[in-house]
Amino acid sequence: MLNKLTITQAHQGLKKKEFSSVELTEAVLNRIRERNQDIGAYLTITEESALKQAIKIDKKIANNEEISVLAGIPMAVKDIILVDGIKCTAGSKILENYIAPYDATVIKRLKKQGAVIIGKTNLDEFAMGASGENSGFYPTKNPHDLERVPGGSSSGSAAAVADNLCIYALGSDTGGSIRQPASLCGVVGLKPTYGRVSRYGLIAFASSLDQIGPITKTVEDVQIVFDAIKGKDEKDSTSFFGHSERSEESNRSFANVQDDIVKNLKIGVPKEYFIKGLDPEVEKTIKQAIDKYKEMGAQVMEVSLPNSEYALACYYIIQPAEASANLARYDGIKYGLSEKGQDLLKGYLKTRKQGFGNEVQRRIMIGTYVLSAGYYDAYYLKAQKVRTLIKQDFDNVFKKVDVLMGPASPTPAFKLGEKAADPISMYLADIYTVSANLAGIPAISIPCGKTGNLPIGLQIIGNQFDDEKILQVAKLYAP
Ligand code: GLN
Repeated sequence: MLNKLTITQAHQGLKKKEFSSVELTEAVLNRIRERNQDIGAYLTITEESALKQAIKIDKKIANNEEISVLAGIPMAVKDIILVDGIKCTAGSKILENYIAPYDATVIKRLKKQGAVIIGKTNLDEFAMGASGENSGFYPTKNPHDLERVPGGSSSGSAAAVADNLCIYALGSDTGGSIRQPASLCGVVGLKPTYGRVSRYGLIAFASSLDQIGPITKTVEDVQIVFDAIKGKDEKDSTSFFGHSERSEESNRSFANVQDDIVKNLKIGVPKEYFIKGLDPEVEKTIKQAIDKYKEMGAQVMEVSLPNSEYALACYYIIQPAEASANLARYDGIKYGLSEKGQDLLKGYLKTRKQGFGNEVQRRIMIGTYVLSAGYYDAYYLKAQKVRTLIKQDFDNVFKKVDVLMGPASPTPAFKLGEKAADPISMYLADIYTVSANLAGIPAISIPCGKTGNLPIGLQIIGNQFDDEKILQVAKLYAP
């Protein structure tokens, strides 16, 4: 059962020569052969190149060379992140046969560490969705209950980690797409501070919100992957080194009390996060998790984020606006699918109608509407102002507390098809996750219990650049 190992365990085993990278990779591939049919986690499996890479690492180990902690460990990549020479579909028919011409920066960094890329994971088309059902190919199922959704849009990545179809995975989070599926699948998912991980080579959805992050089995593993992929990148002008004065000071003062972290820890619980629509079982489990911190000695206080109630509406204006601009490039000429029409315009229309699924078309329409001349001020401009207010709410509470805690998702995994016909009810699944993207701040979901056999995730939100701090706090609960 080598495929069940964490990164840390797998690394130890490789170093001690208890097993080889080829054996570890084969164990994962066997599990994929057994389960992928049912789960639908992968769109592409890169068996040949994975085994080649595993052999390379095994040679290094045999020669007693130093290997990095990620070397020889099989991992999965959400199919919206480019891996040179491998198909990258973004879950869309419009990119069905698109081959990535270069490596995303995160992939370059992982390859340098000797990572074994096992395949590309399924997702909601262009990362638009919260259930995995919007994939242009097939839906992903929740490994805990095959009649339920794994969450989305990083559905394949979260399901693959939860079902041991890889050791860890990369996802992307624009409005919750790492944390919500992590929560529904019972694994750990980190959305870093905007700018701490390069977006170069991530197919753009909503550029001011998109962020790549790791999905893993433990918090320790999430930290390892985050450390490997983070840092400034010349190719992404919004990437940031992560050492603002404020951040250094905050992380330093926190590190000073490391021995006694919990006693100095101030946790804020936003009262706006415990409202109608929150499943009572989820509420109970989250409160119990927060109580555990209290028992450890942390100070817990209620706080208010008064503009939270506008977050979802604000997100569903800014995000489709940016998406409609980003997706304009799929015109049948530059990339992917190309349907000929009688003239250029008819060709565009035919390609886009055929290539894009319903949800993507819906968002392009919303996006172009809120950006159109007569409505720009009323929608897009207003939403940008609200976004600032939301960020200010966080600035205010982080003067008083170190982190915020609440649910990552208002419900556990719901049934396939349950929300598919009702976009608004699907959008409500994002209620607790979109604020962190709008404010650009880091947040993590960690498993904190179950209702029946369905996992529940505790969300820990930190101030801008306090990624390391939320990881330390998460480790207190579940290393
Ligand atoms: N569920 C959200 C949406 O549909 C989140 C998407 C994401 O984070 N990529 O937009």
